[in-house]
Amino acid sequence: MIELQDVTKRYPASGRPALDRISLTVAAGEFAFLIGPSGSGKSTLLRLLLREDVPTSGIIRVDGRDVARLPRRKVPGLRQRIGCVFQDFRLLPKRSVAGNVAFALEVLGRKPAEIRTAVPELLEMVGLQGKAERMPHELSGGEQQRVAIARASVNRPPLLLADEPTGNLDPDTSREIMQVLERINRGGTTVLMATHDDSIVDAMRRRVIELSDGTVLRDESHAVYGAGR
Ligand code: ADP
Ligand code: ADP
Repeated sequence: MIELQDVTKRYPASGRPALDRISLTVAAGEFAFLIGPSGSGKSTLLRLLLREDVPTSGIIRVDGRDVARLPRRKVPGLRQRIGCVFQDFRLLPKRSVAGNVAFALEVLGRKPAEIRTAVPELLEMVGLQGKAERMPHELSGGEQQRVAIARASVNRPPLLLADEPTGNLDPDTSREIMQVLERINRGGTTVLMATHDDSIVDAMRRRVIELSDGTVLRDESHAVYGAGR
C-alpha cells in the first residue's frame, strides 16, 4: 500500500534533511504506528504520501501509484483514496454531524439517495447513531473525532492516515477511538498513525516505525513505544 525507496526530503535553506534516505513498505491491511520526537520527520512523511509536497529524491508509491510523478490532474484522485484524521478534528462547524459526513460524500459527487443511506451506516460504524442532528460544538472531543473518522471513511479508502488522532483526548476516550480505528482496519483499510501516545502504542502492540532525525531508528512488529522494554 505504501512503498518508500530511498526517500530524501530536504527543505530549502535547511541543513540536515527532514527525511534521509528512508526505505520502508507498509502492506495492504496493516496497522502501523509512526513515532519519533518532534522534528523527526513524521509530518513530512505524511505530507509526501498525500502529495502535499514532493521528495528531493527517491520513489514513493501509494496504492501502486508513483506519487511524486503523478500528473497534477490525478492528485485529487490520489487524495480520494487516502482518508485523513487529525488531532484537531477539523469539522465544518456550521454543519451537523450528518451534514459533515454528507458533505464528504457530496464532494465525491454521490447522489442524494446514496448519501441518505450511507450517512446512517457510517455514523453507526463509529458509534454515533442517534447523534446525526447534533452540531460539532455540542459534541465531546471523542465524539468529534468519531465524526472525523466517519467522514474520512466515506470513500472506503484503502489507506487511512491519522496524525495524532488522540492528542486532544483523555485516556479512556483515546482507547475508544482506537477501537474505531481498529474496526476500520479490520475492514481492510491500511492505517498509518503518527502519535506520541505511548500508552496507546503499548496497549495495541502493533507495528512501530520510529523515526529519529529523518531516519528509521526502529521498525518492529507487535512492538511497544519505548525500545528495549
Ligand atoms: P515531526 O512531524 O516529526 O515533528 P517534521 O516532518 O515536521 O517532523 O519536521 C522534520 C524536520 O523538517 C524538522 O527539522 C523541521 O524543522 C523541518 N521542516 C518541516 N517542515 C518544514 C518546512 N516547511 N520548511 C523547512 N523545514 C521544515
Ligand atoms: P447541515 O445543515 O449541517 O448541512 P443537514 O441536516 O441539512 O446538515 O443535512 C445535510 C445532508 O446530510 C442532507 O442532505 C442529508 O443527505 C444528510 N442527512 C441529514 N440528516 C441526516 C440523517 N439523520 N440521516 C442521514 N442523513 C442525513
